[in-house]
Amino acid sequence: MKPRLSIIVPYRDRENHLRQFVPHMQAYFARDKVDKDIPYRILIVEQAPGQPFNRGALRNAGFQLSREIADYVCFHDVDYLPLWADYSPVTQPTVGLYWGAEYRPIAEGRSDKAIRHNVDALVGGMLLIPTEQFIAVNGYANDYWGWGHEDMDLHERFARAGISYDRRKGTFRALAHDHEGYNLDGSASSIAHVNEKLLEQRKADTGVAADGLSNVAYEVIGRRSLAMNPAERAGPCEMVTVRFHMEPREDQLNALAQPLAQS
Ligand code: UDP
Ligand code: MN
Repeated sequence: MKPRLSIIVPYRDRENHLRQFVPHMQAYFARDKVDKDIPYRILIVEQAPGQPFNRGALRNAGFQLSREIADYVCFHDVDYLPLWADYSPVTQPTVGLYWGAEYRPIAEGRSDKAIRHNVDALVGGMLLIPTEQFIAVNGYANDYWGWGHEDMDLHERFARAGISYDRRKGTFRALAHDHEGYNLDGSASSIAHVNEKLLEQRKADTGVAADGLSNVAYEVIGRRSLAMNPAERAGPCEMVTVRFHMEPREDQLNALAQPLAQS
């Protein structure tokens, strides 16, 4: 049997991106020469309204919901559409995003204000992982609320386990959005600072982290199939809505209450 892929997308309130992402992925997997034979499914893990967004915990929840039906997973952002990429099975964590991520606008419609990503050092966007390796490091941390650094934290977890990241230089089309990690002047936002400090503290950790996949606390409050293009040989696509039974910290809430600096 071919290794089965679950594409897990953390999601909330990006309707415009989701409307493009789902049909794009289905067309891509139906037609792409490299990827069309992969038995894939897409799981959009939507966070219920109320709390700050938590990408790591959403990905953990998505993994829990996929683990019986997948041999490897892909953590995918909704705002990158593959043009030439490679989703075939991996033997180590593998970043598939490269071209298309170099410059991103800080806010929608502000192409004059861009952040520059070092594409040779990306740790997210599109990340393929064999399921047993994700389990071995206890997945993502659950406490990076708001924006940022949970993907670097995962990178640290793998480094402690002696597992390095591989890279495939995929080409993607990026969709613009307002950026919570940066002020308009390009400096890091308050929440980015708070979560960066958290990451710095974690760098002193040793062994497998206690917090992660094993204790992500959530309930599924909704589940629905997303419409497919009947003309394509599409894999199943499902949206699951989850509510967390975990709380952000006070300093994260305070940072998120700060307005982004303008320029
Ligand atoms: N995301 C979302 N709603 C949000 C914030 C993030 O759906 O309010 C999801 C979405 O899949 C997005 C991913 O989380 O692509 C990564 O977040 P974001 O794009 O804000 O971070 P970036 O990588 O651009 O810094
Ligand atoms: Mn983005």
